Amino acid sequence: MQSLKERIIAESKKIGIDKIGFTTAEPFDYLKESLIEQKAAGHTSGFEHPDIDERIYPEKTFDNPKSIIAIALAYPTKIHEEVPRDEKRGQFARASWGIDYHNILQDRLNRLIDFIKTEADSEQETADWRFVPQVDTGELVDVAVAQRAGLGFIGKNGLLITEEYGSFVYLGEIVTNIQFEPDEPVANGCGDCTRCITGCPTGALLGDGRMNAKKCLSYQTQTKGMMPKEYRKKIRNIIYGCDICQLVCPYNKGKDFHFHPEMEPQTEEVFPKLVPLLTISNKQFKTQFGHLAGSWRGKKPLQRNALIALANLGGREALPKIVNCLDDPRPVIRGTAVWAIGQLTKRAPDQFLDTLRDLQSTETDEEVLTELEETLTYLTTDKKRR
Ligand code: SF4
Ligand code: SF4
Repeated sequence: MQSLKERIIAESKKIGIDKIGFTTAEPFDYLKESLIEQKAAGHTSGFEHPDIDERIYPEKTFDNPKSIIAIALAYPTKIHEEVPRDEKRGQFARASWGIDYHNILQDRLNRLIDFIKTEADSEQETADWRFVPQVDTGELVDVAVAQRAGLGFIGKNGLLITEEYGSFVYLGEIVTNIQFEPDEPVANGCGDCTRCITGCPTGALLGDGRMNAKKCLSYQTQTKGMMPKEYRKKIRNIIYGCDICQLVCPYNKGKDFHFHPEMEPQTEEVFPKLVPLLTISNKQFKTQFGHLAGSWRGKKPLQRNALIALANLGGREALPKIVNCLDDPRPVIRGTAVWAIGQLTKRAPDQFLDTLRDLQSTETDEEVLTELEETLTYLTTDKKRR
C-alpha cells in the first residue's frame, strides 16, 4: 500500500506538475534578519507581501499547519515559430510567455488539493484537513519553501535552480495541516561561479542570493512613472522583465521544456510589433496581452517601454508615430517620447527641434519639462561632445 505522500507524488505527475517536494511548516526564521535589512536598505520593489512575519511563519496562514507541499512547473525558453524581421519588435521575458502562470499554478494546486481530499480515509479527515494554496503573490517566500522541500537550491541570482529544468520553473505551494515526511533540502551548487552577478547589466545582484530589486530591470520595466535614464538603454527591446541572470547560468544551458500547451509563446504576443503598441486601444490590449503575466500593470508601462525600445533599436521610421505621442494625455508617455525623439534624431538634430520647443512652451508637467530641457540641450550641444 502506497503512503499518502507516494500517492500524491504519483498524481502530481498525472496532472502536469513537473516537480514536487514536501517540507515541514517550521518557520523560516533565518530569513527574518535579511528581509528586514533588505527593506531598510530600500532593496525591495514594493511588489512583495508587506508583512515580514507572514512571509516566514507558516502558522500565520492558519493555526497549527504541519507541512508545506512545494511544486514546480517547467516553462519553455525557446519559441518554435520564426519571429518575423518585418518591423521593430519588443520582447517579453520568458516568465511572461503563455497564459499568466498564476492561473496555471492555481489550477494545478487546486487539482492536487482535490485529489488529496479524495484520498481521505474518513469523513472526519475530510472535515479536518486544511489546505491553503499560494502562488508567488502569496505570503511565504516561494524559493525558500521550494529549497527546503528539496526542489532545488537558491542560486546567487536569487532564483530556485532545479537539476532537471534549471531556474526556468514556476513555483507554488500548499500549506496544510497534514503531516508528511519532509524531503531533504538541496545544497547550494553555485560554487565559484559568478556569471549572473557579472552578467547583470545593472549590478542588481548582491552576491549572496539577494538583490537590490529597485535596480533590477524586471522591476524597472514594471513601474508606472518615468524610467530613470540609467536603465533605458539597458532594457534594449525587452518591454517586460529580464532574463539575463537566467540565460548566463550554466545550470540553464540547453533547458527548454514544452510540457504545458498553455505556456506556449505566440509571436504576436511575446514579440509584439512596437509601433502598433503605441496607439493600442484598451480593448485591443486586453485581447492581445490581457492573458499574459506581463500585462498586470496595464498598458502604460508597456507603451513607455515600447518607446524606449524603439529608440534603442534605432527605429527612425517610427518617428512620426513617436511625435504623435507628444500629444498623449499621460505625462509619462510624453516625457518618454521626448527622450526617444532625442535618441533617434541625434544625427540630424534640427528635424524636430521646433516641435520640441513648441511643446516646451505649453507643457506644464515638471518631469516632461525636465526631459525636454535635457533633450534640447543634448540635441543642440556640439556633436563631438554628444
Ligand atoms: Fe539583473 Fe536582469 Fe537578473 Fe534583474 S533580472 S538581477 S536586471 S540580470
Ligand atoms: Fe549560481 Fe553561476 Fe547560476 Fe549565478 S550563474 S546562479 S552563480 S551557477
